[in-house]
Amino acid sequence: MNSTLHFFGGAGTVTGSNFLLDTGGSKTLVDCGLFQSTHACEETNWSVFPYDPKTIDFLIVTHVHIDHIGRIPRLVREGFKGRIISTDATKTLARPLLLDSMEILTSEARRCNREPLYDEKDVEGAMKLWEGVSYHQKIPLLDGLTLELYDAGHILGSAMVKLTRGERGILFTGDLGGGNSPLLPPCESPSGVQYLVMESVYGNTTRKEQNNRREALEDVVEDTVARGGTLLIPAFSTERTQDLIFEIRTLMVEKKVPSMPVYIDSPLAQKITEAFLKHPEYFVAPIRVRLEKGENIFSFPEAQFTESVAASTQIDTSPGPKIVLAGSGMSNGGRVRAHEMHVLPDPKSTLLIVGYQVAGSLGRRLIEGVKNVKIQGSDIPVRCKVEALYGYSAHMDGEALLEFVGKIARGLENVFVVHGEPLSSSTLTQRIRDYLGNRATAPEIGEKAMLNL
Ligand SMILES: [Zn+2]
Repeated sequence: MNSTLHFFGGAGTVTGSNFLLDTGGSKTLVDCGLFQSTHACEETNWSVFPYDPKTIDFLIVTHVHIDHIGRIPRLVREGFKGRIISTDATKTLARPLLLDSMEILTSEARRCNREPLYDEKDVEGAMKLWEGVSYHQKIPLLDGLTLELYDAGHILGSAMVKLTRGERGILFTGDLGGGNSPLLPPCESPSGVQYLVMESVYGNTTRKEQNNRREALEDVVEDTVARGGTLLIPAFSTERTQDLIFEIRTLMVEKKVPSMPVYIDSPLAQKITEAFLKHPEYFVAPIRVRLEKGENIFSFPEAQFTESVAASTQIDTSPGPKIVLAGSGMSNGGRVRAHEMHVLPDPKSTLLIVGYQVAGSLGRRLIEGVKNVKIQGSDIPVRCKVEALYGYSAHMDGEALLEFVGKIARGLENVFVVHGEPLSSSTLTQRIRDYLGNRATAPEIGEKAMLNL
């Protein structure tokens, strides 16, 4: 049996995840994500799909990060009528995230004279086609294909997608968690596949502070207290915000750091946090037990979710020390930018970077040590401390990625290395060849591969 695998996004770049497996008798997409470069009006997002959405039978979704789901409503708008399948948690989280992304994209589209990428009707259309399933449930698709999802440990509900046909199979990793979330179990190692579509976001990185991250966070908080400033943490609304709320709550409950206001300045993060509480079955066992007993692990007296813009603005004039969590995680939009205008010029304050920063994003430039940035047309000097704490990254580092491939390497005929900037992908590709002796390639966007599947 022969199938063709097309790499339509997330190849040669981190974002825009979109793969098509064509078995001849069925067409299955894995992910339909947004391309996220420095320009929100990224032309590729508006260009027509390189296939006819009407002819697609299935769309399998790995997880709810926008670079994996952001073009799904557009796909529906262009005629997709197949089945969308993901875990239950991914389905729950998708609607608020797609609606939030829609607002950002619509206002950006206006600025660059484009039609909106999609509207609310398209989101609802997508939700109608969407089915939530459990990990390890075997779901027959078409043309002899069977689907099974495995826990990827990356964010709540994240899954690896295994598609098998007869005795042969392919695994799409989506993004893989580094096993360092305080809330989620580590990722699984599904074996018995001949092909692997492997993420490589951190393919050329080795991280240090994996084991002592709570202590490292404690140090950053204490340093901010000593200087009386603001600790500003740009954080993605999904997973990292909840991980950090939980960690800060633990530090305060255990009196490891002094009590001080903790502002979670993101209406979206509030919605997502509420959704997390509805899915205790996805958490590590000790947390699941606490949730099932009714404990709200994200609530403590110091924590305040701010909804209105007025309340958000007041945070900056309230006295320190204080902690502010706000999106977006890469500082390329959202409420965090208004806080950055106050925090960056203040030598008493600290900006703490906790996640992946795409090349060219404001977050990335701040890590690289720029001394001046432009935010909303104003020149802002950077005088605050800029710290990075990668122990909370939702991704595996290069060593862990190689180890993951090593665990399932037996019988693998080819590893397609994707979801990475070119240097990350080429480094991981080379290391898989050198250390594991497996065949590995880093496909470019638009490439296709013939599979014996
Ligand atoms: Zn992700």
